[in-house]
Order: sequence, then structure tokens, then C-alpha cells
Amino acid sequence: MGILQQIIFAILAIGSFYFVSKKVKEIYQNIMMGQKETITSDNAFRLKKTLLVAFGQQKMFKRPIAALLHLVIYVSFVITQIELLEIIIDGFLGTHRILYFSLLKGNFLGDLYTFVVSSIEILSLLTFFVTIAFLWRRNMLKLPRFTKSELLGWPRKDANLILIFEIMLIFFIFCMNTGDKALQLIDPEKHHETGNFVLSTLLAPSLATLPEMFVHFIERLGWWGHIIMVFVFLNYLPYSKHLHVVLAFPNVYFSRPEPAGHITNMAHIQKEVASMFNPDAVQEETNEETPMIFGAKDVHELSWKSLLEAYTCTECGRCTAMCPANLTGKKLSPRKIMMDTRDRMEDLAKGRREHGPDFKDNKLLLGDYITKEELRACTTCNACVEECPVNISPLGIIVELRRNLIMEQSDSPNEWNNMFSNLENNQAPWQFSPQDRLNWVSELNG
Ligand code: SF4
Ligand code: SF4
Repeated sequence: MGILQQIIFAILAIGSFYFVSKKVKEIYQNIMMGQKETITSDNAFRLKKTLLVAFGQQKMFKRPIAALLHLVIYVSFVITQIELLEIIIDGFLGTHRILYFSLLKGNFLGDLYTFVVSSIEILSLLTFFVTIAFLWRRNMLKLPRFTKSELLGWPRKDANLILIFEIMLIFFIFCMNTGDKALQLIDPEKHHETGNFVLSTLLAPSLATLPEMFVHFIERLGWWGHIIMVFVFLNYLPYSKHLHVVLAFPNVYFSRPEPAGHITNMAHIQKEVASMFNPDAVQEETNEETPMIFGAKDVHELSWKSLLEAYTCTECGRCTAMCPANLTGKKLSPRKIMMDTRDRMEDLAKGRREHGPDFKDNKLLLGDYITKEELRACTTCNACVEECPVNISPLGIIVELRRNLIMEQSDSPNEWNNMFSNLENNQAPWQFSPQDRLNWVSELNG
């Protein structure tokens, strides 16, 4: 590789890492604007969850076929990073296949390198077919969870774009490897050996019949195409639902340890209610500060964990597909709750970028992005939490917004208000005085 190519590579690499680090910092600040939430799990629990749910994709296997197809893409993505690492070292140092030629050739590690790159080729071929299948499933099969209204427009384009990126990456990998091998066949003196990779070795003889200059162009097209796609992907990732390939790991690591269906109580309210039911009961003191606000009406009032979850959402729609409210035609979609929360954070970040840190747009997550109608449709059944492959809780956000609606804004349907005042006055949802509660016993006796 000439010095000019090295300089171009260094400019692209440094520029790419600079822009992506700026966006990563912005996302981190967005997540950290959330409220404090202490996750009480220990390290053993966290590591187990990370290994099973994030690395092992345990929850994906509820749908085995989709899980296997996803696993092919996932393993292929992970293992391709080895070849990518070599491309980056080669780019900076001006070398060619440094891992094989300079370090590993002729020993056990050289064979391991050939095995790894051959595996990348086989997985890339499989990924090509899986990607076509996913494009077909998304665009032709019309599965209900991929045709909901929240996926219209940009989210649909985003999903398709990443699959097209995948196909381009695979194309460039094969151009690079096959071009390399074909050049060695054309002139073994000039082009040093770089390992015999299983598929490119099969394809290379056909390419080697073409002029050397053209084959060299194919090899360089593959190398540059691959690395440019990686830089584009790297900078695109923080704006895409595919950010989950990174954030799924911290999100699962910080999984809440409470059992399924658990809804966190507000300690102060719980204490009030308990003393109302039994004024003589001794109440334990809590260290919890009196909240400034009940629930949340905007993103900065949600916990940092809920905000991390919003950035982690893969938009797969498994939650919505199992949501009884959505299935019975209500407006609520738990996936949309997560997408709206992320959109709200991104809109605020954009506003801050353009108008400074004090930017306000007189909008709120509650009302402008997520409507009362959606919130009220939730039965708190927990199905969405159970289904989510990366341990996200749309229910956590729904409960906080609904608490704000009711406890801060006293905004609830009349039917609910009757029940609330009965609870307050009668300590039961019914319209009977507590003194009359045991009347039914005397009726039995009498
Ligand atoms: S908890 Fe609410 S949002 Fe989640 S599945 Fe049940 S009804 Fe739907
Ligand atoms: S919340 Fe979970 S299940 Fe729902 S769309 Fe996001 S990743 Fe999928």
C-alpha cells in the first residue's frame, strides 16, 4: 500500500472515530439526564444474565427459526471483527495482511488465521442468504409486527438499509479475498501468499483469467469498499435501531433483578396507604427522599435505566405482538413507547446542538409523543417485558407516565375517579362504608 493510501486511510479513520465519539458522548449525556435508579442485582446475577441473554441470545430462541437466522448474522458480525482488525492495522502501517504474512505464516497460528478467515467466508455466504430472507420477510411477507404504523417511514428504511449494508459488506469481503488469491495465481513472485481461504480459493481461478490490473482493482475495491462501509456503518449506528448490537450488553448487564410482573412502589405513597388501612401500625422509616414529582412527564424524569432501554430497543416488535391491548385493537404498542422515548431524547439533543444547552421546545413526552389513550390501554400484564429479547421494560415507562397523569394532573377517566375516591374514603374500591364491610356475616347468621 502506497503512502497516499495510508494518508487517506488515516484521515478517514480519525475523522470517523472523531464523529462517532461525539455522537456517543451525546447519547451518554442523554441517558445520564435520567433520574437515579439503583439496580440492586449482584455481579454474579449480572454476568449470568449477560452470558445467557446478551451473548447467548437465550430469549430469541422462543422463536427458533428466526433465532437461528439471527444467530448466523450475529456470529458472522463478531468473527468478521478479526479481519477488520487486520484491515485497520494494514491501513495505518501500509502493510498487506499483516496478521498472516508478518506474524503467523508457517506456524500453527497461520493455520488458525486461515481457518478463521475461511469461517468468515462461509458465515458471510450464509449471512448473504439470511439477509435476503430477512429483506423478503420484512418487505414481502407482511408479518403483522413489521407492518404496524410506528414502523412506517424512517424505521422501515433503517431496517432495510442495514440489511443492504450487510450485502455490500459481504460483496466487498469476497472481492478482497478472491482478488488477493487471484493475484497470487497470476504472479506468485510479485504477490505474496496470504492463506488459502475456502471459498475465495474456489473462485480465484476464474478471476485470474482476467488482466492483472483489473484483478488488482477488484482487490483494492474490496479492501477500500469494506473499510469505507465499516466507517459509514460506525457513524450510522448511533442513529439507527442497530445500536442494540452495542447497547444490548450493558442493558442486559444492568437487568432489574425483581421478579417478572413486579411494579416498584413509591415508598411514601405506600406508607400513607398503609397507615390509612391501619392507623396503629408502626411504619418503618425509609431513606428515600420525598419525590419532587410523582411519575414522569418527560424523559429527564424517567430513570437512566429506562432511557438506556429506549436506546437499546431493536424495534423487533415482539412486545407489541404479545401485547393484549394491541392485539385487541387498542392504540397502545409497547414498541412505540420505546421508540417515542428515544425520539424525544434525540429531538432534545438536536435542539441543544442547534440552540444551545438551555433549549426548550414546550413539548413533553407525555402528551406530545405518547398519548393518554395509549397509556390507559395498558393492563400492566407484563407480557411485553417477558417477550423482550434484551430485557427492556416498556411497562416501566408506561407506569411512570401514568402515575404523573393521575397523581400530578388528576387526569383519569370518571370510572377510575370513582374507584380512587372509594379507596380513599372506604379503603376499598366499592362504595360501601368500612363499617358495613362485615354486614354479610350477620346476614348469614341471621
Ligand atoms: S404490560 Fe401493558 S404494554 Fe406491556 S404487554 Fe401488557 S398491556 Fe401491553
Ligand atoms: S422493547 Fe424489546 S421486544 Fe419491544 S421492540 Fe424493543 S427490543 Fe423488541
